[in-house]
Amino acid sequence: NKQIILKDYVHGFPKESDFLLKTSSTIKLKLPYDSHDAVLVKNLYLSCDPYMLNRMREADASYPTPFTPGSPINGYGVSRVVDSSHTSFSKGDLIWGITGWEEYSLITDTSLLFKIQDADLPLSYYTGLLGMPGMTAYAGFYEVCSPKKGETVFVSAASGAVGQLVGQFAKLMGCYVVGSAGSKDKVDLLINKFGFDAAFNYKEEEDLNAALKRYFPDGIDIYFENVGGKMLDAVLLNMRLRGRIAVCGMISQYNLEEHEGVSNLFCLVIKRIRMEGFVVPDYYHLYPKFLELVLPHIRDGKLTYVEDIAQGLESGPAALVGLFSGRNVGKQVVAVAHE
Ligand code: NDP
Repeated sequence: NKQIILKDYVHGFPKESDFLLKTSSTIKLKLPYDSHDAVLVKNLYLSCDPYMLNRMREADASYPTPFTPGSPINGYGVSRVVDSSHTSFSKGDLIWGITGWEEYSLITDTSLLFKIQDADLPLSYYTGLLGMPGMTAYAGFYEVCSPKKGETVFVSAASGAVGQLVGQFAKLMGCYVVGSAGSKDKVDLLINKFGFDAAFNYKEEEDLNAALKRYFPDGIDIYFENVGGKMLDAVLLNMRLRGRIAVCGMISQYNLEEHEGVSNLFCLVIKRIRMEGFVVPDYYHLYPKFLELVLPHIRDGKLTYVEDIAQGLESGPAALVGLFSGRNVGKQVVAVAHE
């Protein structure tokens, strides 16, 4: 069984060398006879997600729980059940949820496992479009932002796992949507593949406030916040009266030893802006409703999804740390095994 191990807690940026690949010659394909409510799975796809950086750091009394140095890391993935002592899962089932970064995993906490019913779509989608990032885009946009037809929407980190969907949801709703991303290729994707009305490369803008004024001469109704820092500061100046900001993440702040200050928070008061943070597990009860919305749109081609698939468990560390330099184009996935 090959496994990806975190060597020690990380300070600042994570590096590929913070991980090691461990190979053990034994693979157990049967659960212990006295196991209860557990599943043994073969992992097919693993998901690289920004929140995993917090888990590489020593506990700071906040969410989520840190990884254990010396042990395999875990995260969202797509797996095939090899053996089960749980009444909801049977041998052969396909599932998505929290699993180990290894070839085979014994999962004893099954609270975050979902059975895959629609296996005609690419299974890797259950790490992105049909998994946690898809639910994040759905909950953040529809539940937190309360969008209305005709409103103006801005999405940062817009070409990523979550952002590309937020933009497409906004178009389905009849909104005007602009995205920012970190390269020309990503900007092209936003416009030509995902149907954003406009997009810009934030790295090439000297003055983010001026850039936003160019795209939103009448202001922004909804900001889907993925990056924080300077971008948030510029957005606050451009929000409209009674605008909404869904705070999904602040990736520009995750690596810094010292955080950037945000100067324009007083805009929240004068513009009566509602700024609301959210975490996706609070919304998992809406998963069936989410599938009802997205599955028909995927099948008739109205929703599309771009993935960046790294091949082999050994490519996992590079893929994971690449999120923090924008190396990924679309949802970063690691393919571990074919079925
Ligand atoms: P992405 O697929 O968007 O990958 C991360 C991207 O962030 C990179 O490709 C890069 O794109 C961008 N980025 C990296 N560093 C910076 C920086 N310093 N400044 C600006 N952009 C940067 O990730 P996800 O779609 O999975 O996640 C997007 C956000 O959503 C993250 O903040 C994440 O933490 C959050 N999230 C929150 C959840 C919740 O429950 N609240 C659940 C899931 C995700 P570029 O080249 O464009 O810079």
